[in-house]
Amino acid sequence: MINRRDLFVGGGAAAVAYMAGSFMPLIAQNAPNFGAPSVPQVGFRKQKLGDMEIIALNDGIARRGLAAEFVRNAPLAEVQAVLKAQNLPTEYIDVPFTAFMIVAGSRRILIDTGFADNGGPTTGRLVANLNAAGFKVDDIDTVILSHYHGDHINGVRNKAGQLVFPKAKLMVPSVEHAFWMDDARMAAAPEAMRGAFQGVRRIFNGLPADQLIQFEPGKEVLPGITSVAAFGHTPGHSLFRVESKGEKFAYLADLTNIPELFARNPDWAVQFDMNPDAARETRRKIFEMVVNEKMLAGGFHFPFPAFGRVEKLGNGYDFKPVA
Ligand SMILES: [Zn+2]
Repeated sequence: MINRRDLFVGGGAAAVAYMAGSFMPLIAQNAPNFGAPSVPQVGFRKQKLGDMEIIALNDGIARRGLAAEFVRNAPLAEVQAVLKAQNLPTEYIDVPFTAFMIVAGSRRILIDTGFADNGGPTTGRLVANLNAAGFKVDDIDTVILSHYHGDHINGVRNKAGQLVFPKAKLMVPSVEHAFWMDDARMAAAPEAMRGAFQGVRRIFNGLPADQLIQFEPGKEVLPGITSVAAFGHTPGHSLFRVESKGEKFAYLADLTNIPELFARNPDWAVQFDMNPDAARETRRKIFEMVVNEKMLAGGFHFPFPAFGRVEKLGNGYDFKPVA
């Protein structure tokens, strides 16, 4: 199911710029300056879930000019019309980055990491927001990764190479790890994609073996936290169901990029979906699960506070953030 085509359809310079942790290279040299996005003043939000607490931790927001290639299978005018109908700007989009922490008994678990100091000027705020929420980096005992795109993994290490959460074990989807750590695949990848493979090695090379735990997507990773295979966006992209006392939360990672576009139009393919057909099928299947089970949902690129409910709307879905 993974072949060279996956690399090409999801590859290109855009993928590299994305992995490298900055959106800037995506914007042409002579692109207009759209200004800086406003980052949330209070960048954390706590929600009770049974005996657990889930905390959204914003890492920042990146603003990028909206180009035709952002949605691969819809005309730009149609994309802009969808934004306009929601009173959103049509020249650029703001893409937020929000990771989630789970407080379960004595456990302190972080899912995805943001950029640390490897990204643009309006990113890298996760640790400050963690502190504001009352926790320290040393409190995190486990970091779970959904997939290996730069905005999710770069925050494992700072630019100097030090582990940002030194006491944490890393739990990673086996399928994703196997794909990116395959040296032969890196060698065969188009030049433009090689940086993404190197970025993954920056994180994992030199990591003590006992600090890395691979899980099989679909299996329970920790008590009350079950992974869900959601392949398509990347080859091993995995989501997480969290359950406590009958209350359910779904961390949707990159099931969609901004839901204002891709929940409303689940068949649209964002340029970062490596296998758009698989991603589309996964998107509909998972949204159905979230709606049917009335789960609280959170997504990495959802508008802050990034928590909310998903409802059916037309031929797609609507994400309604909590108040
Ligand atoms: Zn992402």
